[in-house]
Amino acid sequence: MSERSPGAPWLDEAAASLTAAHAAGRTPHAVLIQAPQGTGGGSLAIWAAQLVLCTARPAGPPPSSRGGPCGVCPGCRRAAEGGHPDLLIARPIEDSQQIRIEQIRELCAELALTSHQGGYRVAIIDPADTLNRFAANALLKTLEEPGLRTLLVLVASQPSRLPATLTSRCQRIRVRPPRRAESLAWLERERGPGDWDAVLDVIGEAPMAAAALDPEAVGRLRAETCQTLEQIRSGTADPVPTAERWSRSELALRLTCLENWLTECIRRGLAAPRQASELRANAHPAPADSVMNTQALFRALDGARGLKAALTAPINRSLALESLLRSLRE
Ligand SMILES: [Zn+2]
Repeated sequence: MSERSPGAPWLDEAAASLTAAHAAGRTPHAVLIQAPQGTGGGSLAIWAAQLVLCTARPAGPPPSSRGGPCGVCPGCRRAAEGGHPDLLIARPIEDSQQIRIEQIRELCAELALTSHQGGYRVAIIDPADTLNRFAANALLKTLEEPGLRTLLVLVASQPSRLPATLTSRCQRIRVRPPRRAESLAWLERERGPGDWDAVLDVIGEAPMAAAALDPEAVGRLRAETCQTLEQIRSGTADPVPTAERWSRSELALRLTCLENWLTECIRRGLAAPRQASELRANAHPAPADSVMNTQALFRALDGARGLKAALTAPINRSLALESLLRSLRE
């Protein structure tokens, strides 16, 4: 019987540890998949559900095979499609950015029922670091007294945001960050040719997130953002309409471009300190390739990161971005 891999080489090691535990009859009742954002923690969670819901092999630990899910039986297919009656998934509802207590109460109540198929019941909470405090508390009881043949899978990129009472009751499975070459090979295979290197330069080492983007569109956005930043710096573009426009579309990507642009300016500034002092002494308007005051750049970088972290908070994004862009003017 062939086995389904979790879909990307950097997930294999984590999958192998789950498979080994399952094959030895030591399947944990709760796992916490710790995966950097956009690297496939969610895919691994579905794979883990398939591991216990696969109906292609007899119940109980398989004696000789490696014991991964087959990927093709009705159990595996329904789990992958999200239509398995014994698989429950909690995600933040629409724009709320939080998993709420009502969702967790409902999930725990369903998890306590007998399985439809006479096997495992699985609940995936993804991303678990969006559980609010009340929801996390509501989950605790189920974690403390799990039913027989239940598997809870929590996926988190920042498990430190979860209460220790919760994380200490889960077996932690760490997904290693993918290497750039692995990510590029995977993206080429999944999505076809494109300048994926440039996409990863913009969004970081997050191939699963990159796969959802159009490399040409990201390239255009980056070029346009950097050009506008140069224009703002030299005083030929106005921060006010720019902030207004950016805050309405693709702000997260723009802020990442801004972060990268500032980092590059700082790097250039630190690499050429003599040139920097010469340029600061120049009374004329700064040329486009001039080096800004490094401290101001670091302040702007902090500002960009702060704004990105607060994207879901009820703040006036346009106003915050406007003051950030103004600070780039020399
Ligand atoms: Zn199967």
